Amino acid sequence: MRFSPSFLDEIRARLPISSIVGQRVTWDRRKSQPQKGDFWACCPFHGEKSPSFHAEDRKGRFHCFGCGESGDHFTFLTKLEGLSFPEAVERLAGEAGLSMPARDVHAEAEERKRASLHEVMELACRFFEEGLQSREGASARGYLNGRALGPDIQRRFRLGYARQSRNALKEHLAAKGVPHEDMVATGLLISGEDIPVSYDRFRDRVMFPITDFRGRIVAFGGRALSADAQAKYLNSPETVLFRKGDLLYNGFEGAQGRAERRHDHHRRGLCGRHRHGNGGVRPYRGAARHGPDRAPARPALAADAGTDPLLRR
Ligand SMILES: [Zn+2]
Repeated sequence: MRFSPSFLDEIRARLPISSIVGQRVTWDRRKSQPQKGDFWACCPFHGEKSPSFHAEDRKGRFHCFGCGESGDHFTFLTKLEGLSFPEAVERLAGEAGLSMPARDVHAEAEERKRASLHEVMELACRFFEEGLQSREGASARGYLNGRALGPDIQRRFRLGYARQSRNALKEHLAAKGVPHEDMVATGLLISGEDIPVSYDRFRDRVMFPITDFRGRIVAFGGRALSADAQAKYLNSPETVLFRKGDLLYNGFEGAQGRAERRHDHHRRGLCGRHRHGNGGVRPYRGAARHGPDRAPARPALAADAGTDPLLRR
């Protein structure tokens, strides 16, 4: 289970780190200054004869200048006694006279649900990646190569191709044991009361995964290859994983912009080779929005179908 930072801080505030470490080591009387909360001992993590292990109550940290081990109350126990983090928290909460917070069963269930949906998105992403490298993906590869998004960038940004099929992805995921409701919940299928048989949302499209700030795939943007497609750009709908107001998506747009600018430079002959340092392309990441005081979210690649997110500068 997870612990709130305030609960962990409460434990740290109630227990000086020297009281925990002091149960397992013998302080060096000459070097330590107990009135300052400054303690030295021979390190419990490596054998030594003169004390180079330091614990400081004011900081709530320990550090060994000999072997480099360092940490706080909880890591001391996990490292020295092999406890898991929750076990260390439980032990120290007991020593601090605090009762453990009640488990939030609902929040834990939601967390598990989200984790399984992230796995579904990951499976879909791999399927699209394979699609891009398949024979059917030839025109998608051609499209990307023509936009200066060559094989390296395709791999790095995990670009893909959704086949021209109403159920290729649906059948692929079903074969992997993904429940139909999860395919709907991730927005990968189009379904509804008026739709007798659900079907793949993305068909015959170049696929761009959209990730959250932890790098997990939360949505896709799809660019139609056929000129007759109803929407040139189609994005995942809002889902449990993907709330357009909560995240900023700017990575790929930036990468694409840079790639295109570089392309332009080359064309105009203004730019020598490798003038752009790291190549100018960074991984596609959304950025977390930290609070209401921040600027409103500005979805870029996410945006609405019909805009031109991949080409915008
Ligand atoms: Zn040490």
